[in-house]
Amino acid sequence: MVATPIGNLRDITLRALDVLKSADIIAAEDTRNTSHLLGHFGISAKLVALHEHNERVAAPKIIAALHEGKTVALVSDAGTPGISDPGAILVDAVRAAGLPVIPLPGPNAAICALSAAGWDEPHFLFYGFLPAKSSGRRKELEALRELPYILAFYEAPHRIVETVEDLFRILGGDRNITFARELTKLFESIHSCKLADALAWLQGDPNRQRGEFVLLVSGATVAVEEGISAEAQRILQLLLAELPLKQAVKLAAEISGEKKNALYDMALQLK
Ligand code: SAM
Repeated sequence: MVATPIGNLRDITLRALDVLKSADIIAAEDTRNTSHLLGHFGISAKLVALHEHNERVAAPKIIAALHEGKTVALVSDAGTPGISDPGAILVDAVRAAGLPVIPLPGPNAAICALSAAGWDEPHFLFYGFLPAKSSGRRKELEALRELPYILAFYEAPHRIVETVEDLFRILGGDRNITFARELTKLFESIHSCKLADALAWLQGDPNRQRGEFVLLVSGATVAVEEGISAEAQRILQLLLAELPLKQAVKLAAEISGEKKNALYDMALQLK
């Protein structure tokens, strides 16, 4: 399992180059893409395709080659294979056949983004891609809403706006979001703001919506002192955006069942 660069080709590891040079076969998610990478490093190798549509069919052929004593390197288009990329089915089949699987660590977009986010949090949850359709996306976000960990998402440029809209709608405006865009590439940019301001920032310049994204969103904070649940905070925030403070607090108390006084104090802080 050979991790490859997520943009900057100089991020390839020495070990990855050794293995790619010496492998009998390189199984690649997109052989054209990998030819470009190999060409850059002067490596010629036998490439076979292994992608999400043929992984089950390709796996037995690769296992047969391994049984013949050949070495097979697996790469994806970018980053670490098996992480929001094909590879897991092959790995499982190879191990089940009693053969070793050796991981070579290297680039990964989520870890790269987290390392530069500057959030002093011990835990994160790698989520990868949310569903493409808004209904599915909102449902999955609802299941994540109460988790007190940084959430790490992958997103494509054509869905970035609608995903950020759903993040705001489901998680509320008070959380921090970091947009880590085009990491290791020419137009790398890292921007942090509140979810409440995220859409306006994205729409402030069309270039901000281009390229590949990792989105990091801070986890649910349960206001321990007040004993207010994350869900009640979210309701309060949504109502505060539309209504005068007293009315928002009254309604939030009715909807959530939380104490009015505690919600009132929180509303003052939020305002
Ligand atoms: N296996 C890869 C890894 O280890 O990070 C992830 C592959 S996944 C199919 C591709 C997604 O990863 C992109 O849509 C984007 O969300 C994220 N990604 C990949 N390269 C990136 C980069 N240079 N900057 C920001 N995000 C990136």
